[in-house]
Amino acid sequence: MIVFDVACELGHRFEGWFASAEAFASQNERGLVTCPVCGSGRVTRQLSAPYVSTPRHGGPDRPSAPLDPATVRRQLAASLRAMAVGAEDVGQAFAEEARRIHYGESDPRRVRGQASREDVESLLDEGIGILPVPGDDDLH
Ligand SMILES: [Zn+2]
Repeated sequence: MIVFDVACELGHRFEGWFASAEAFASQNERGLVTCPVCGSGRVTRQLSAPYVSTPRHGGPDRPSAPLDPATVRRQLAASLRAMAVGAEDVGQAFAEEARRIHYGESDPRRVRGQASREDVESLLDEGIGILPVPGDDDLH
């Protein structure tokens, strides 16, 4: 098990234990990782130094720095894009391919690509976990 720093869209930071980075990504894509403060399922892993377990000396917990919304949005976009970088680009076939993977007709893997708003809504209606990623053009 490894621990990740996680933050929700509102900037609440918390720690979560996961079997692996893949396990976190998979659970997060399915909306299973939720913020304990506000219940939001829109959370992202924070880039932080590897967790080292150190004995506590009764000191205060790490101070929570005030977060400015622009920084949160930037971090969110960066995390989402980092997740998308390793995914196979299926371009315009994204909706079809996501559906095939969901129903076991294609090899399970991470894919990215373009989808219309209608495609996104119908995929979500079918319970297919997808994650809108801003700034996709920059990935190419
Ligand atoms: Zn929250």
